[in-house]
Amino acid sequence: MTTPEELRTAIAEAMPQAVADLERLVRIPSIAFDGYDPTPVRASAEATAEILEAAGFGGVRLIELPGGVDHPAVYGEVPGPAGASSVLLYAHHDVQPEGPPERWTSPPFEPVVRDGRLYGRGSSDDKAGIVVHAAAMRAFDGRPPVTVKVLVEGEEEAGTQHLPFLIEGHRELLAADVLCIADGGNWRTGVPALEVSIRGVVDVRVTVRTADLAVHSGVYGGPAPDALSALARILANLHDDSGEVAIAGLARLPWHGIEVDEAEFRRDARLRPGVRLLGHGSIAERLWSAPAVSVLGIDAPGVREASNQLVPEARAKVSLRIAPGEDPERALDLLTEHVLAHAPWGVEVQVERGEGGAGIRLGDDGPAYAAMTRAMELAYGRPPVRTGSGGSVPLVPVLARAFPEAEILIYGAADERSQYHSVDESVDLGDLERTALAEALLWRELAGT
Ligand SMILES: [Zn+2]
Repeated sequence: MTTPEELRTAIAEAMPQAVADLERLVRIPSIAFDGYDPTPVRASAEATAEILEAAGFGGVRLIELPGGVDHPAVYGEVPGPAGASSVLLYAHHDVQPEGPPERWTSPPFEPVVRDGRLYGRGSSDDKAGIVVHAAAMRAFDGRPPVTVKVLVEGEEEAGTQHLPFLIEGHRELLAADVLCIADGGNWRTGVPALEVSIRGVVDVRVTVRTADLAVHSGVYGGPAPDALSALARILANLHDDSGEVAIAGLARLPWHGIEVDEAEFRRDARLRPGVRLLGHGSIAERLWSAPAVSVLGIDAPGVREASNQLVPEARAKVSLRIAPGEDPERALDLLTEHVLAHAPWGVEVQVERGEGGAGIRLGDDGPAYAAMTRAMELAYGRPPVRTGSGGSVPLVPVLARAFPEAEILIYGAADERSQYHSVDESVDLGDLERTALAEALLWRELAGT
């Protein structure tokens, strides 16, 4: 079998092509959001298919979405030796809108390398994932020691509407022992990570009514309450005085993984100097395995339009991040009960439940996790750290449901400087190479176990 050193050399040789492939993909503004022309999304699917085919994938084809939605996914596969285990590689070829072009140091869709990093929209999220998969296949000359399937989605950034069609509708095609999601990232440049914990999210809209009509605040104020004050009391009770989430009964898991440095966190969160962190426990636990509640917006008269009237109705959107494994419906019940229980003065309160998405805690004691740990140690010279995601990643619970026996690994070429979703998105080309090498070494490890 190919030795690790042979793979290291082969990946190094595949890098010029990988960088050229990434530049080609970054030039295509494949934004799958509503209101954007889908033509570039199809073009990036076609370019992805060509890149995968040139790297050695067979049976490469586009998977069209239903309802005439022009955001095709791309599929390809290479069968391994008889009896070999199988991996499904995932990435997405659509990107976030570029934001204000004048805030980019160089144009978002004109790839450019500065100081060893390739800049451009999608360079890290997630066109890097596509070229990582292609480079790993190249390193084996199109003859991998395990069965390799690849799925590159075309509207990851734009919604989850077609995920069930894509995953559950192609269960037999996609089934594999190990699911490799190359849409995560390194902890720091050169420090690999495996993401093991993803929070879920639910939200509600809370409407408070106190009167049929706005009336004069001088004539009626005092005895008559206003809806905004009542809503403020409800919202104030979402946290206790220490800032801990006050909604009773929500799950919270212990955290065993990388710790988050407070100074770095404060800097990244752009917090003002005197602002204290909320709640208790380690910062990583609070971020990745505990609930978090935030008020996202309020509908009420704005200050400029405010007149001397008692506000009769006010509305807020409340978002609740939930611990991995927490049932979203149960969390919505608890949040709704909490809101209703804290309504003051007999005011009318209506709670509309929004969408809910579950989080997940991934296993880190399976053979694929161990194999990827060894692979990353060889590729990076250090083992991966365990990280989590505070935001939800709808794909992962969908995959876990469709393939309950499969092990899921989340990693990627991005790092803490990648600024994905923001301006000046970039990927470190050294990490791109190390990620591709780790993936190739993973296949080798899986073939040996
Ligand atoms: Zn992504």
